Amino acid sequence: MSTSRRDFVRMSALAAVGAPLIRPLGSVPSIAHRATPTTSRQEKKLGFALVGLGSLSTNQIAPALQKTKHCRLAGIVTGTPAKAQKWKAQYGIPDRSIYNYDTMGRMADNADIDVVYVVTPNALHARDTIKAAKAGKHVLCEKPMEVSTARCQEMVAAVKGAGRQLAIGYRCRFEPHHLEMLRVAKAKEFGDVRLIESSFGFSIGDPTQWRLNRALAGGGPLMDVGIYSLQSAEMIAGQYPIAVSAMTTKTDPVKFKDVEESMTFELKFANGISASCTTTYKVNGFNRTTAYADRGTFGLTPAFNYDGIKGWRSDQTALEAPEVDQFATEMDDFADCIINNRPTSVPGEMGLRDVRTLMALYEAARTGRTVELV
Ligand code: NAD
Repeated sequence: MSTSRRDFVRMSALAAVGAPLIRPLGSVPSIAHRATPTTSRQEKKLGFALVGLGSLSTNQIAPALQKTKHCRLAGIVTGTPAKAQKWKAQYGIPDRSIYNYDTMGRMADNADIDVVYVVTPNALHARDTIKAAKAGKHVLCEKPMEVSTARCQEMVAAVKGAGRQLAIGYRCRFEPHHLEMLRVAKAKEFGDVRLIESSFGFSIGDPTQWRLNRALAGGGPLMDVGIYSLQSAEMIAGQYPIAVSAMTTKTDPVKFKDVEESMTFELKFANGISASCTTTYKVNGFNRTTAYADRGTFGLTPAFNYDGIKGWRSDQTALEAPEVDQFATEMDDFADCIINNRPTSVPGEMGLRDVRTLMALYEAARTGRTVELV
C-alpha cells in the first residue's frame, strides 16, 4: 500500500492542470511563518535518527538527508533486525546507533544523535516522541501529530520539559510554490482572498494496512492527506479555523469499516475567509489548492506531491518557484532552528491545534452540526 500511495503521489505530479484567477488578506497573522534558514555556522551538521524504517523513511527521508546542508543520518530505530542490517550496510550506521523501540531510551548516552525524526504510524507518535524527549533529543514528528489532543499535549509537555524543540513534518510550509502562493496572497496581488478550495486524496490499496485501522491511524484520509488541505488553507488565511462542518461518505463498508472513505469539509476563519475541502481514499486525482480573491484566482495543481508541483494565476502570468527536495528543506530548517536557537515555524502547538481541528471535523461529521473552535 505504501508503494501504491507513493506511486500515486509521483504519478499525479505528471498530471498537472492549468487554470483560473484574484487577491489578498486583511490583517491576519497569528501563524508565524519562517522558511529561510539563517544558519551561520555552515559547517555544523546535526545527527538525525529515524524511528520507523517504512516507506517514507526509506524512499524520501533517508535520500533527502544526503542532500541536506546541516543534517546527517546518524542512527536508526527499527523493530526489524533485517532492516537494521540493510541500513547499516547502505548508510554506514555504527552498531552503537542502531536501536529498537525498547532500547531507544539509551540514545541519552549517544552524543552523535541530536534529533529524532518520528516516522511511525500516527498512533505511535506520542510513544516515540516521549521516549526521544526523555533521552534529551529534539524531535521532528511526522503529520498528523497524533490521534488525540491529549496525546499531542503530552508530547508538547515532554519535549518542553526536556528543554528541546518539537517540530511537525509539515513539508509544504517549506515548499517554494506554496511560499509563492502565500506571497501572492499577502501582497494582495489579486485583492483580498475570500475563498479557498483544496483537495487531496488517492485510491488506497492493501485493505490490511495500518492506514485503514482506526487504532493506528486515528481516522481515514482526513488524518492522512486531508490535513494538507487544512494546512494549505491555514497558511493562506494566516489563521486557524474558528468553526468547521463536515460530511463523510462510504460506498465500501467492508474495506472502510474502521475509517471514513471520503470527507468533504468546510473551514471558517475569523478574517472572513472560508475553505471548502475534499479528501478521499477512493479515487485518484484530488490534488490541488486554489485561492479565490476579489480580482482573480491563483493556485497549485498538483499541490501536494513530493515534486512536480505546478502553480498558475488567472492573469496568465507565471506562478513559478524552484523545485526543491521538501524533506531536505524541512530538516535543514529544523537543524537551523536548533543551531541558532530560534523557534520552529511548525511547532508541536501547531500540530496540536490541527489535531483539535481534525477531531472537530469528525465530530461535525458525526453530529451533522457546525463545531466551533475557540
Ligand atoms: P509505513 O507503513 O510505510 O511505515 C511505518 C513504519 O513503522 C514501518 O517501518 C513499520 O515497521 C513501523 N512500525 C512500528 N510499529 C508499527 C506497528 N505497530 N504497526 C505498523 N507499523 C509499525 O508508513 P509511512 O508511509 O512511512 O508513514 C509513516 C508516518 O509518516 C505516518 O505518520 C504518515 O502519516 C507519515 N507520512 C508523511 C508523509 C509526508 O509527506 N510528510 C508521507 C507519507 C507518510
